[in-house]
Amino acid sequence: MNIEWQGAQDIKDIYGCLIDTELNVSVEARDQASAVITHAQMQKFAGLGIYTYNLPEAWGGLGWKYAPWGHVLEKIGYLSLDVSFPFLISVRMSFITALLAVQRADINDVYIKDLIEGKKAGAFAYTENADAFSFLSCAVPEKGAEYYVLNGLKAIVTGAETADIFLMFVRAETADIQVFLVRADDPGVAITPRAMHGCRSTGIATVEMVNVRVHKSRLLIATDGLSFAQRYFLNCRRALQTTLFLGRARAVIEATLAYLHTTVRHQRPLIDLQHVQALVGEMYILLESARTSVFYALNRQDRAESDPYWDSVSSSAKYQAVEAVNKIAALALNVTGGWGYTESSGIGRAQRDFASLIAGADPQEKLKVDIGIQKIHEMEMHNQRCHQ
Ligand SMILES: Cc1cc2nc3c(=O)[nH]c(=O)nc-3n(C[C@H](O)[C@H](O)[C@H](O)COP(=O)(O)OP(=O)(O)OC[C@H]3O[C@@H](n4cnc5c(N)ncnc54)[C@H](O)[C@@H]3O)c2cc1C
Repeated sequence: MNIEWQGAQDIKDIYGCLIDTELNVSVEARDQASAVITHAQMQKFAGLGIYTYNLPEAWGGLGWKYAPWGHVLEKIGYLSLDVSFPFLISVRMSFITALLAVQRADINDVYIKDLIEGKKAGAFAYTENADAFSFLSCAVPEKGAEYYVLNGLKAIVTGAETADIFLMFVRAETADIQVFLVRADDPGVAITPRAMHGCRSTGIATVEMVNVRVHKSRLLIATDGLSFAQRYFLNCRRALQTTLFLGRARAVIEATLAYLHTTVRHQRPLIDLQHVQALVGEMYILLESARTSVFYALNRQDRAESDPYWDSVSSSAKYQAVEAVNKIAALALNVTGGWGYTESSGIGRAQRDFASLIAGADPQEKLKVDIGIQKIHEMEMHNQRCHQ
């Protein structure tokens, strides 16, 4: 697959008008109010087929894998001044593929069509203020195990504010992780919007469950829900999720260039100063090297060459891309003076949005630790084999 940037015209032809009228014109007001992108807005994009690229052909989709889908997200990130939009799209799409992976015809019949058409929306309720091995949220079967009672608090759930259903990861009686389908309108479910530093229109919220009683048919994964979480939520999305940020980072560089061309200091446009040119070069080096590793990782995923449960190449790509986009935003602010710091430049908002992945999709520092541990272990195993 060609990973060279080809421009975003193909995606602009389909969604550009809607992105401008529904999202770009109102981005500042929405960000200031931490207002969520609504169901109705998302449904308009669904109507144009935004959930069909990564959708299996059996469900009427194009069956595109991670890398081509990543290119679509990158282009949407480039076109949308609001990073929250492609972020939300990527979560909703991953939710559909995760639900399909459960292979429950009864569940699919009820939900999948509505999810694809944007009439309903799903979110992943995984993180709580604890390691997965010590989750406090739990499911207790009632006598006879016809029903389960769920309790717990999920701390940060993207898209929860407008979600109808959740993939809910909870501790079973055995301390194993189970996955339930929980509905936003189940009695005992409370969704509370959270004020965030960036990505403010994704509708991030806490999801609390107090004695939520669900039928056993809602138990989607009975054992080893942790592997399911890695395979269909965390590991598979780690590199993918950065693509939309890379698209926005490109737009930030272009906005910076426009400013540098039109701003004159010492009788010369800033763009003519060699130090400024070097900075522009540095931004492109950061962007293109991050893209190279991200699309390399996604292509490996597509060829089924990556570890589906925890892949160090995808994790490295995520790490590198997040470092890169955050540095690009900082460099842009370095050369755009007071204008860069105004709200209307969009650079400050991008900087806040880019910071979301310092913690999201596994914190940067934790990735370093986990990659280090894995590589040390691999080396030790290799040495042991050599000495046998
Ligand atoms: C924008 C955004 C969207 C999100 N969306 C969702 C969502 O939709 N659903 C969901 O369930 N969750 C979501 N999350 C939560 C996200 O997955 C978690 O924030 C992330 O997994 C980290 O978990 P944590 O916050 O508990 O931090 P931890 O992993 O507990 O880490 C806390 C801090 O300790 C450090 N640390 C941890 N372990 C080590 C170690 N061994 N050595 C050194 N340092 C360490 C980390 O670097 C980090 O700074 C989202 C988060 C963000 C920011």
